[in-house]
Amino acid sequence: MIASRLQGIPPTIFTTMSALAVRTGAVNLGQGFPDVDGPPDVVAQAVAALEGGANQYAPGPGVPSLRQAVAEHQRRHYGLDWDPDGEVVVTTGATEAIAGATLGLVEPGDEVVVLEPYYDSYVAMLQMAGAVRRPVTLHAPDFRLDADALRAAVTPRTRFVLLNSPHNPTGTVLSRAELSAVAELAVEHDLTVITDEVYEHLTFDVEHVPIATLPGMATRTLTISSIGKSYSFTGWKIGWATGPAHLVGALLAAKQWLTFTSGAPLQPAAAYALTSAADFPKQLAASLHERRDLLLTGLAEAGLPTPTPDGTYFAVSDITHLGWADATEFCLALPERAGVVGIPVQAFYTDHPDAGRQLVRWTFCKRPEVLAEAVGRLTAADLSAR
Ligand SMILES: *Cc1c(COP(=O)(O)O)cnc(C)c1O
Repeated sequence: MIASRLQGIPPTIFTTMSALAVRTGAVNLGQGFPDVDGPPDVVAQAVAALEGGANQYAPGPGVPSLRQAVAEHQRRHYGLDWDPDGEVVVTTGATEAIAGATLGLVEPGDEVVVLEPYYDSYVAMLQMAGAVRRPVTLHAPDFRLDADALRAAVTPRTRFVLLNSPHNPTGTVLSRAELSAVAELAVEHDLTVITDEVYEHLTFDVEHVPIATLPGMATRTLTISSIGKSYSFTGWKIGWATGPAHLVGALLAAKQWLTFTSGAPLQPAAAYALTSAADFPKQLAASLHERRDLLLTGLAEAGLPTPTPDGTYFAVSDITHLGWADATEFCLALPERAGVVGIPVQAFYTDHPDAGRQLVRWTFCKRPEVLAEAVGRLTAADLSAR
């Protein structure tokens, strides 16, 4: 009974794997949500807003204090200058910003260049908008962006690039050179870039470069982020988009019919986070850096040597040497075998499933003792296909 615009889109893999984790009592390194909440003083602001009466519809584009805080954040970190009135919109998480941008900007039949493996909502939203995916596939082990593949993906019907850096699920942080290749193509072919930068603060030893800061890009880029990853409040679903008024306005035109307006009491708390807890994301990145190294060391000891990701919550192991037909089979067996859950990356390679067939994604956004327990279990178990 599902409408054709949703047909062929598989249900999210996280439902299956998280249910398996619960049923087997496995340590869940699948879904990327932290097991420690963000700053308590930010939570206190949300409680105060609830008790203080911020319980009715917020303005559609977002409360002024949050739009100002987002504009100030973009100026302070990146030197980008956006008007809180008209060039900033608050959304129900980055997820709604992606949906609003796609439905508000993309015409049926438009080609959209997009990095594969995909964050799963991109596939669903592009299909719902009637867009045509033009994948640029990132390959293990280093998952770099190939400039020739990128150029080859652009045709006369291409109108958009949907970018994600730092990139989920690979942990790749696109370099200035890689982003410049995207920017040059965008300028040459008059493309609009929609960029998902929810992991903007979660990089390790490398710099995150917003593509909007590159020459010629501010006027053609819609930048999306949210409170979820930067502040360990993934359940809040407060996001935003910034960019020129014609792009933000198109997103808002769709958003007003999706949710109309987003969580009123959480918006002032998010504004407080961006201004009064501005140091938190840096501390979080430092802590994640340590946890990444803990996980990678443990995976290597367990016989799963894993390349080092430069950002996000995730590391990706290639399990070819263990002899399984594919990583989905491995991940389905792993809870019984080892008491650990990982995610088969194949689920994110919709157009070139072979490129992800042997890959497993692990998250390191869990407490050190949880990671230690997981790698201890992996080390003790026989991981080979037998
Ligand atoms: C988590 C995530 C999102 C969703 O962000 P919300 O603010 O929770 O909606 C979007 N894009 C990527 C790449 C993510 O990892």
